[in-house]
Amino acid sequence: MNKEQSNEVPGMVDLATIVSLCKRRGFIYQNSEIYGGLGSVWDYGPLGVELKNNLKRLWWKSMVYERNDVEGLDAAILMNHDVWKTSGHVTGFKDLLVDCKSCKKRFRHDLIKSDVCPECKGELTEPKAFNLMFRTFVGSVESDANEIFLRPETAQGIFVNFKNILTSSRRKLPFGVAQIGKAFRNEITTGNFTFRSREFEQMELEYFTYPEESDKWFEYWVNERFNWYTTYGIKNANIRLRKHDKEELAHYAKSCYDVEFLFPMGWSELEGIAHRTDFDLKQHSAVSGKSLSYFDEERKQDIMPHVIEPSGGVDRAFLAFVLDAYREEKVRGEKRVVLGLNKFLAPVKVAVLPLLKKKPEIVAMAKAIYKDLSGNYKVVYDDTASIGKLYRRQDEIGTLYCVTVDVESLEDKKVTVRDRDTMEQKRIPVSDLKSYIDKLVR
Ligand code: ATP
Repeated sequence: MNKEQSNEVPGMVDLATIVSLCKRRGFIYQNSEIYGGLGSVWDYGPLGVELKNNLKRLWWKSMVYERNDVEGLDAAILMNHDVWKTSGHVTGFKDLLVDCKSCKKRFRHDLIKSDVCPECKGELTEPKAFNLMFRTFVGSVESDANEIFLRPETAQGIFVNFKNILTSSRRKLPFGVAQIGKAFRNEITTGNFTFRSREFEQMELEYFTYPEESDKWFEYWVNERFNWYTTYGIKNANIRLRKHDKEELAHYAKSCYDVEFLFPMGWSELEGIAHRTDFDLKQHSAVSGKSLSYFDEERKQDIMPHVIEPSGGVDRAFLAFVLDAYREEKVRGEKRVVLGLNKFLAPVKVAVLPLLKKKPEIVAMAKAIYKDLSGNYKVVYDDTASIGKLYRRQDEIGTLYCVTVDVESLEDKKVTVRDRDTMEQKRIPVSDLKSYIDKLVR
């Protein structure tokens, strides 16, 4: 049985519950569902896009705005064919696959633990290499000369732009370049929801250092990235670091740590932090004939920087944060499902709920509040059920605060603000509401 198909972890919510919640509440849908779907490709719905944007914004804030040593980049998905030849992906970005001679299913050789088919126990073929890059053609002629790839990682866009960024930003070592963007891999072992998708997003930093300082920075980034996940809510029991064995290292890496999360199928990679040495800059310099070295003014010498790369998946982080935040509680004998997401991640910050929708004054007051609070984050208005049901709905999607407008509100010009986690309720004057909520959610 492969690592990703192993038994569910006790104590962790099962994946089926999360898949169902994500679909029902509009976080994630199967791509092209009405046509039977496209395997391992997913669409993020109204709440999913909010959470995903919040996640990316949080990463960007930590990696770019809160530091003074990182610039951003948004490189194109399509790149010159030679980039991938030089990086080693054309020859090296391969998985070894085995086929089952009986049921014809295909498996990644490194993920299966026995020498028979994990599904039907049939005989397996010898492993053969399969390149994971999606191929396409630029222009109207489908020839080898016009072959290009959808990028399988965002990093190469940073390496080939190294000189451009250096010249335009006038940075000195050490400094980093951050990028968030789509990547594509024709994965064979799929399943486990969005964990292994064929189209996904990466959040990558390439941090350029003096060669002799690179080990120190490697250690620094391993800690920094691990702490990022716990700072924004992942429980210590669900996250760990794992150092790669020598045999496991990618062709470009001197050493690597994985930040692993305890997914329902077992401990699996959330983010990799790799010491890429000067592999990429050196290779691109040699093949393109354009030097990507750094001229050190003080030392009066050309230096090929070494690179530390924290590379995380947006989709895997999304899934981990949701799994980690999900909890079921008993409240007055009834089940309450709460998505206890960190306040910066929660897709909806406030829900405005009128208690009596038959009273036009209450509806008018609630709508005015809804309008007033909107503008900087997601606020929703809901009057389609009883208050108990409305609260449960909001708890299940992780809404931080519910504001209810009732008959008394018309008299005292106050509303009730309910906290998602404590369920505590406070009466707040409408005139103070915006600044009160703003302080809590931003
Ligand atoms: P795995 O061993 O799980 O295939 P990897 O080591 O190939 O992952 P990297 O090349 O290090 O992954 O990519 C960096 C990050 O990008 C991963 O930590 C993961 O979060 C994300 N990622 C990689 N492949 C996928 C995928 N198919 N679907 C979703 N996210 C992915």
